Amino acid sequence: MEERKNILIGGAWPYANSSLHLGHLAGLISGDILARYFRLKGNNVLYVSGSDCHGTPITERAKKEKKNPKEIASFYDKEFREVFRRLNFSYDLYSTTESEFHKEKVQILFKKLYDNGYIYEKIEPQAFCEKCNKFLSDREIKLKCPVCGEETKGDQCDNCLHIPTGEELIGGTCIECGTKTIRKDNKILYLALSKFQKEIEQRTKECEDTWRINAKNETEKYLKQGLLDRAVTRDLDWGIEIPLEGYEDKRMYVWIDAVLGYLTDTMKICEERGIDWQDFWKEGRNNLIYMCHGKDNIVFHSIILNAILLGQKENYHLVDRIVSTEYLNYKDQKFSKSKGIGITALEALELYPSDSLRYHLISNGPEKKDTNFTPEDFVNTHNGEILNKFGNLINRTLKFKGLEKIEMSTMEEDIKKKIENAYIEVGNLIERLEFREATNRLIELVEFANKYYDENEPWKQRKENIESFNKTIFNCTNIIANLANLYEPIMPEACAKIRQYLKLGQAKWEPVYIEKEIILENIEPLFERLKLE
Ligand SMILES: [Zn+2]
Ligand SMILES: [Zn+2]
Repeated sequence: MEERKNILIGGAWPYANSSLHLGHLAGLISGDILARYFRLKGNNVLYVSGSDCHGTPITERAKKEKKNPKEIASFYDKEFREVFRRLNFSYDLYSTTESEFHKEKVQILFKKLYDNGYIYEKIEPQAFCEKCNKFLSDREIKLKCPVCGEETKGDQCDNCLHIPTGEELIGGTCIECGTKTIRKDNKILYLALSKFQKEIEQRTKECEDTWRINAKNETEKYLKQGLLDRAVTRDLDWGIEIPLEGYEDKRMYVWIDAVLGYLTDTMKICEERGIDWQDFWKEGRNNLIYMCHGKDNIVFHSIILNAILLGQKENYHLVDRIVSTEYLNYKDQKFSKSKGIGITALEALELYPSDSLRYHLISNGPEKKDTNFTPEDFVNTHNGEILNKFGNLINRTLKFKGLEKIEMSTMEEDIKKKIENAYIEVGNLIERLEFREATNRLIELVEFANKYYDENEPWKQRKENIESFNKTIFNCTNIIANLANLYEPIMPEACAKIRQYLKLGQAKWEPVYIEKEIILENIEPLFERLKLE
């Protein structure tokens, strides 16, 4: 047996200033698939995330709603937790950047970068609004994107994802009052990203086949331009304090604080469990680091997180797998709560069963290109693949009219072989991050089982030849028992019920066969037909 690996899976930290929608979940669900799969394989898995609670979008929102930023952040943090609970996300820890533990550890990591010479001070002119009498953050500036020409906020271009440089921001106007900004000297701390150019280039090359192609391309784009140093302090009173004298009125930029959450979560959970957090984050510990998020988050993981880890000079292991999805759109438009496009995650969970939502977000996932969510497609997936194929196999076998128990019989050799192959093939697909294809491969096994059932006509066998009837039902039941393992990463609720019906133990990523007769009790259909509302 191969050695147990230490696998860290980081799910992107959702930003606590508006509701999660299905587009966010399409990027995040990959993390839960991987976490569940690697646990079934017997690895040491830590799956972590949390709510990203700092930064100006939250202070802006608070101002608008006449609340304080903490109230806004905790409102959405609570909502996110509800969504993840109902969708059965199996985080080992879901925390927030507002936790004292996180703040304290981030300050230590920040100080280390400073002591190692990767954070430096610079006095430089910054955008200042005379009317509002304050230095403006990137988001508080409006400008024409120098790359694509669209009107955009200064933090990142919605259209082409370009992040404007300090220089480019100077020509902008104040988003609040429309005044053209002036330049005024400000004391700023910078992260010397340029010093990591070579090492990040090397890491990107090493990961050519293990990062999703969009992660490789997006990162190479930045490397080609040459990595630019980035400001890490801002003039704000909401966020993590700078652990250096003379910066009392400034706070850390949210991007440096949030990407370190993966690390601080690991430290926290390992402290609680009495294990060494370094097993997940240092070189030579037989470990793998996965990061799961949407494509707009790529460079924060491939460049910034890796640079901060390198800058610690403490033998950190860098990100191995970047599972970056394209966008899930709603009827060809970007999900947007403010514009009323699409439905939020909570609304979807009111309408649809959790397992089916997970299944559809994966089988229709934006792995290599943008995909669309429509209620019609969702209902088709649910009624077609999930109910008519998978659900039907279970019903017609375990709820066969008058059947009270599954009798022991013998397995068909070719069915055994098919089951064994499914673990290998589906496992390989999941490890290659091809989750859509994994669901296709599983449906093939379900279709095979339904065909086997039809061809044997157990409704006739039962009257004519009870031995062969028992054999058909026994073989189908064994396939179902294995589907309860194979589908566990995708539909955990249904799989738990099947294992309960068949009195199976814990799910594992290996073939399981019925070893003694099973009394069938209280078997309910797992899925109900949905109507398009
Ligand atoms: Zn642009
Ligand atoms: Zn202004």
